Amino acid sequence: MQELNVITGRFAPSPSGRMHLGNIFTAVLSWLSVRSRGGKWVLRIEDLDPLRSKRHYSDLIEEDLTWLGLEWDEGGQEGKGSNGPYCQSRRGGFYEKALEHLAALDLIYPCYCTRSELIATNAPHLSDGRRVYGGMCRPVRFGGRCADKPDNRQPRAIRLYVPAEKTVAFSDGVFGDIEVNLGCEVGDFVVRRGDGAWAYQLAVVVDDAMMSVTEVMRGCDLLQSAAQQIYIYGLLGRRPPRYVHLPLLCNTHGQRLSKRDGSLSMEALRKDYSVEDILGRIGYISGLLAEPCRATLRQLLEVYDERKIPCVKQIIV
Ligand code: GLU
Repeated sequence: MQELNVITGRFAPSPSGRMHLGNIFTAVLSWLSVRSRGGKWVLRIEDLDPLRSKRHYSDLIEEDLTWLGLEWDEGGQEGKGSNGPYCQSRRGGFYEKALEHLAALDLIYPCYCTRSELIATNAPHLSDGRRVYGGMCRPVRFGGRCADKPDNRQPRAIRLYVPAEKTVAFSDGVFGDIEVNLGCEVGDFVVRRGDGAWAYQLAVVVDDAMMSVTEVMRGCDLLQSAAQQIYIYGLLGRRPPRYVHLPLLCNTHGQRLSKRDGSLSMEALRKDYSVEDILGRIGYISGLLAEPCRATLRQLLEVYDERKIPCVKQIIV
């Protein structure tokens, strides 16, 4: 039975490297957001990519969160809670069911395009250079031109049909009213790869819905993805969570923090700073504290106010 009206947030890291300041910025704010309202926090390990995901990094994620004092009520590798497993690599059966549901609605189709064909035929989207699917394999029944399966070719992906006029509007906790024209800005998107790997967009919806997540807080690079996810929620007959997208922490070259910014990885930070130093820095960057100073989670909880989070896409750290 689902618990009703419990505010449930989640942190969903990919175990492809040691966390850095940007990852824990998201973790801390998500934790504060739900804890300040008596809600619960779920830790889900997004290890969909078998090549990049390493058990060692999942262990370190849990270790770093515990060091910071960010306790989770459900999830983690040990999988406490009744909505598990909490590692995506073990949830394929649930994704399969969702895909069957989309197939029963007759909304998916195989795509045979190779990467180079996609690059050649997909139009870059004007605002950010992302590519919009050109519809090469879109079947006639969806207004496309593809009538037959190409000879001797295996599907490279399964795509979800997006009607040309489909727009999704939602209100983001930090960025306010957002409207995405999915037809023009994304096109039919991949829900499963030809090699069987599940696409993030489908997995994240299935998991957040099954884990009764009511609030998704994460980096604003996923703002457009929220629209894709809301579209899937509608098709699966589920209610989407509330979305709160956060500024991305960037290095002095304006690039999003990555494993290459070693000095801001948890490994380096834990050598040089205390938990309170790091929490104070996050409190300051996020606008919760007026000046950089040391802070505990309890102190941040007292001043937590989502309206103080800066509505900017990037913060240089
Ligand atoms: N797994 C993603 C990441 O580590 C986050 C996805 C999400 O929060 O929806 O960046």
